Amino acid sequence: MNELKDIIRDVPDFPKKGIIFKDITTLLADAPSFQRMVDLIAHRYVGKKISKVVVVEARGFVIGAALAYKLGAGVALVRKPGKLPSETFSKTYQLEYGSDTLEIHTDAITKGERVIIADDILATGGTMATVVEMVEALGGEIVECCFLAELEFLGGRKRLPEGKVYSLLTF
Ligand code: 5GP
Repeated sequence: MNELKDIIRDVPDFPKKGIIFKDITTLLADAPSFQRMVDLIAHRYVGKKISKVVVVEARGFVIGAALAYKLGAGVALVRKPGKLPSETFSKTYQLEYGSDTLEIHTDAITKGERVIIADDILATGGTMATVVEMVEALGGEIVECCFLAELEFLGGRKRLPEGKVYSLLTF
């Protein structure tokens, strides 16, 4: 697992001064690492009757779509405002400075459907907590929220449903 951790690049002062950004593009670009990551995460959900993977724009799309393919599941997109063409359900959430909004098609998930939600990094948990509320509002049954990596020191997992958070790597 250490090889996967080591291939993620630290970028200091991005997107603003004082933040060390975990740049996962270096992992995505390395074929054996990408394959290993997808295989390891997907393995956890084999046989769990997952019918949809909810993916969070934008890096979550890459990981989540590969997971869905492996699991024989469909994909439901969570996007930034104004990107989805049909009827959407929106949720606005607070950031440190200001707010952000996410959208999902109202018919992207059917009531009672067993889903996992995939994103690249769990930081403060604000993004995933919002997606959890959206999926619940549409009636989806959340099996787990899964991440490539979790920034443990930020405590984001506390904002998510207990026992339903999985991250392949921790920093
Ligand atoms: P949170 O809402 O948990 O604070 O932030 C998580 C969201 O911001 C995720 O969608 C993730 O893609 C992005 N994010 C926050 N910090 C990082 C980081 O260090 N690296 C990457 N790749 N994404 C991050």
